[in-house]
Amino acid sequence: MPETISQTGAREERKLVPGPILLLGAPGSGKGTQAKELMALWGIPQISTGDLFRANIEGGTELGRKVQAVMDRGELVSDELVNDMVEDRLKRPDIGAGYILDGFPRTLVQAAWVDGHLASGTGTLPVVAVNIKVSYNQLLRRITGRRSCTVCGTIYNIYLQPPKVDGFCDLEGTPLVRRRDDTEEVFEKRMREYDALTAPVVEHYRAQGRFAEVDGEETVEVVTAAVVQAVARLRGQE
Ligand code: AMP
Repeated sequence: MPETISQTGAREERKLVPGPILLLGAPGSGKGTQAKELMALWGIPQISTGDLFRANIEGGTELGRKVQAVMDRGELVSDELVNDMVEDRLKRPDIGAGYILDGFPRTLVQAAWVDGHLASGTGTLPVVAVNIKVSYNQLLRRITGRRSCTVCGTIYNIYLQPPKVDGFCDLEGTPLVRRRDDTEEVFEKRMREYDALTAPVVEHYRAQGRFAEVDGEETVEVVTAAVVQAVARLRGQE
């Protein structure tokens, strides 16, 4: 955390005001894991469009019924539905000190919406974007091995980070589940969507500045530290 020297000469910790952060990266790059770490560190909410859609599916809402088949195929939900859902979520009062957009924007149309709606206004910090880079083979192993606990949300990986007892959560003892779209076949479709529609979003923010890239193949702690450092630098608070 950055430090300043006060008038009395004492070292004071200057608290970082994170503001809105876009976490970019392919499926399995660790956006959700990192968003949770940052949420705990900074006390700002994680807004994951994938999680919001899954909650709608579980809750049996009209939106959930509309998006279920699209998600199962590994395709992207229409920009209009996603943008409206995010707009709605951003009306909640918990976003004052900032928030982490995880999995949004994923198309240039969504990015244009972000640039229009979240542009810097009075008292609003501009968005900063951090791209988490991971190689294709590592993404494939992370996605096909991913299992999670429906009770506490802990994420395991049967190849990389298995639970102590095969198929059960270490903390809750309850059966682990696999996301319906975490099969190899759907992963390939999600990657094609990523390359065609989301990779240009990364280039869009790279060209705009207020952009950083971190190596997502390091440990969770190392990646978190790199993201924190990048955000501090982009906010001019390093
Ligand atoms: P995620 O949990 O981020 O991997 O998202 C799971 C699925 O939700 C994606 O494969 C899409 O079908 C849908 N989805 C999530 N975020 C978006 C978005 N920003 N735009 C379009 N579809 C999305």
